[in-house]
Amino acid sequence: MKSDEIFQELNNEYYKLYRSMPKIPISVIVTESIDKANCKLRPDLKNRIIIEVTENNYNYNGRMVLPYLVGDTISILLNSENMIKYTEDGSMTWVGTFAHELTHAIDYHLIALKDNLDIYDPLLELKDNRYLMFNLWSEYHARKFGYNFLNNIMCKNLNISEDEKIKHIKDNEWPFHINNYYKEYRATNKGIQQIYRTLQLIGSYSVGCDLYPTKFNEAQFKIICDSCPWVYKIFAFLRKHESIDEIYAEFSKMREIFKENWMDF
Ligand SMILES: [Zn+2]
Repeated sequence: MKSDEIFQELNNEYYKLYRSMPKIPISVIVTESIDKANCKLRPDLKNRIIIEVTENNYNYNGRMVLPYLVGDTISILLNSENMIKYTEDGSMTWVGTFAHELTHAIDYHLIALKDNLDIYDPLLELKDNRYLMFNLWSEYHARKFGYNFLNNIMCKNLNISEDEKIKHIKDNEWPFHINNYYKEYRATNKGIQQIYRTLQLIGSYSVGCDLYPTKFNEAQFKIICDSCPWVYKIFAFLRKHESIDEIYAEFSKMREIFKENWMDF
């Protein structure tokens, strides 16, 4: 199968799983350098991209790149080196990355339409607090859809019982997520990075809540984040605002929750 066909197939599977998501034009680019490919697609944003690279210095699995005009094709960049690594180790993480970035692409497309934007650039102005909240919400949404999509594809051909699946999540997947979370959270002292990481963790947990609500739920999550009330609060809030329609008028409420812990929000 050619890579175009693989991505077409994954695209079809995505819309089968997420029927409420509207179809949008995308192009998938597998690249050795996400940053260079990003600059090539948006040379007008080169300076901004370079600043982000120097600040974050992170080996991204993928990135969604918005075109200038709303309605034009959105690009999904995938890191070729990581794709090979994740194919060889059997985790196939890049399949989740594809769905993660596609979810971002659809979220950005939808909010641009709702806000009657002709160009995407205002959405990148994170000093605009509303779009920063949108950006953070989309990270939760994309993590959730990406992780669930990967699980769905991986479990399709496996004949394992629900109990075995739950045991696997409890004993393997969740400890892996939470360990990575603490490691990455402590590795930075930037509040915004810590918030991103927290939203990703919540996104992963939320998948369990949808699939196995008796084992993964708000009461259980409250116990996990006993010492961080804002994490539980944002989790409970996001569980009630799962679509762009549900969150659209509520970004200021989301900000209030962050403000409880992060004064300068
Ligand atoms: Zn993301």
